[in-house]
Amino acid sequence: MTHKQILIHYGELSTKGKNRRMFQNKMAEHIRHKTKELEKVKILPHHDFMHVKWEEASYEEMIEVLKDVPGISRFEPTYRVEKTMEAIYEKGIELFKELTFESNDSFKVVAKRSDRSFEFDSMKIQREVGHVIGEAFPELHVEMKKATYKLTVSIQQDAAYLSLISVQGMGGLPYGSSGKGMLMLSGGFDSPIAGYQMLKRGLEIEAVHFSSPPYTSPQALEKAKKLTAVLARYSTPMKFHNVPFARIQEEIKEHIHEDFSMTVMRRIMLRIMDQLLIKNKAMAIVNGESLGQVASQTLQSMSVINEVTTTPILRPLIAVDKNEIISIAEKIGTYDISNEPYEDCCTVFAPKKPKTKPKLHTIQEMEAALDIPALIQEAVEKTEVMTIDEHYLTEQYANFTELL
Ligand code: ATP
Ligand code: MG
Repeated sequence: MTHKQILIHYGELSTKGKNRRMFQNKMAEHIRHKTKELEKVKILPHHDFMHVKWEEASYEEMIEVLKDVPGISRFEPTYRVEKTMEAIYEKGIELFKELTFESNDSFKVVAKRSDRSFEFDSMKIQREVGHVIGEAFPELHVEMKKATYKLTVSIQQDAAYLSLISVQGMGGLPYGSSGKGMLMLSGGFDSPIAGYQMLKRGLEIEAVHFSSPPYTSPQALEKAKKLTAVLARYSTPMKFHNVPFARIQEEIKEHIHEDFSMTVMRRIMLRIMDQLLIKNKAMAIVNGESLGQVASQTLQSMSVINEVTTTPILRPLIAVDKNEIISIAEKIGTYDISNEPYEDCCTVFAPKKPKTKPKLHTIQEMEAALDIPALIQEAVEKTEVMTIDEHYLTEQYANFTELL
């Protein structure tokens, strides 16, 4: 018997017509994956909502998990009690006791009766339960239209179900329902947030980090891995591709005039991304560009850099201000990691005066000095792949303290 349950409202996916089944399956699959360490849950999808049922874990544990599942607009913990008015009163009072009220708070009771043999009809249940709650909590008044709290009582065949609070979910679309993209993940503030925004939109993501040892430190690589671990909390364990980029940076430094090196470097990164996309059957590149933020993010730069590919490049932060990006970073826990001082390959090789308005033909002429296909092939072949899950952070921390 599964006693505990949560009612999930899908939000946007309910408008998806024929694809609904696919969206529901993706969400169910993700919830099953995320809860598997707690216990085996039962998932029952219905047309406009989904039930998650389980036995042992606490409601708090389940709420923590569901908060980070994309595609859920909100959810309601639902409590099962015996089908008697006494049991309903008792549970109702218990649920209200957990709240802290402010002056002028109000409530209402909404009852549904699918078991027609139950002694009272829904009107009477509402009245009686409302009366009992009103007596127990004199600081609350009844309000039909805009009640602060709504207690739902549902009389079903097997039992009565009560729910009082509604928890805000992540919103967006179920993980993986929009296909797969590859995220260009630096150690900075922006790209992990770009990844988070796209995960939320149902994109399955693999992370790609360009590193340039020995010019960049192992800590810089570690930073990108830790950021991947944070993102994995909202997805499933995430593939992390580490592309060796030092050789290419050296070639650029040797053959390309410093002022144009950033543009050439970005164009090579995109060409490598395209190869990785083919290899990993992904359909889009995601990056953390924000219009006008740095020299590579002017329209002129973006058009010259973008010229090497026809792949869709998703830039969820293109119109997002830095302070908004930072506040999301604080909310999802990437801020402290991005804030670590280790510099990545782009910063180490950053030119003093990168062109903000590069000309395509100039760049193309300069690139002729490099054997780009060979450089790309070597980088792709030497790319290392690992899978990172959300426990990576705690595991790394444990290893670290063991060493002390
Ligand atoms: P971020 O904070 O994400 O590093 P940024 O504002 O510092 O972004 P740039 O460093 O110019 O801007 O990078 C623009 C985008 O290019 C990044 O958001 C990221 O998607 C990608 N990128 C930059 N450096 C790397 C890297 N070493 N590995 C993978 N992707 C990178
Ligand atoms: Mg950066």
